Amino acid sequence: MQDCIFCKMVNGDIPCVKVYENESILCFLDIAPAAKGHCLVIPKTHAENILEISPELAGEMHEVISIVAKGMLKGLGADGFNVNMNNFKAAGQLVMHAHWHMIPRFHGDGLQLWPQDKYESEEQMQAFSQKIRSGI
Ligand code: AMP
Ligand code: ZN
Repeated sequence: MQDCIFCKMVNGDIPCVKVYENESILCFLDIAPAAKGHCLVIPKTHAENILEISPELAGEMHEVISIVAKGMLKGLGADGFNVNMNNFKAAGQLVMHAHWHMIPRFHGDGLQLWPQDKYESEEQMQAFSQKIRSGI
């Protein structure tokens, strides 16, 4: 897609530091990492968010995420990793080409990815579950 920074990376029009690629998926380093080694995994064909990813491609994505995860654990010596995806602007998506963030984690690294809230009651919790189910 024209004017998409990640499509330009796939096409080689702008540089990126590659970590892994296959025919349909590219993994490269995030330029502003939450932790050094933070990767982005993207489909090579433009899709805006997870809702535009087919089940087949999602399966391939899972495989690549597992491959890169092994690289983080063995190659970086990471103790764990986060997989995160921002979908739509309200969720913090800045680049409108679907991408999975992979962040290597180390015991005691202190990285806090999101704050946590709490429900006021069991009824409120049930109500949220019901609202989501009503939209499925
Ligand atoms: P998001 O907020 O989920 O859309 O994340 C977009 C990510 O893309 C951010 O973490 C940026 O640091 C990253 N990013 C933007 N431009 C580049 C670039 N040229 N090379 C590598 N990562 C980039
Ligand atoms: Zn794109």
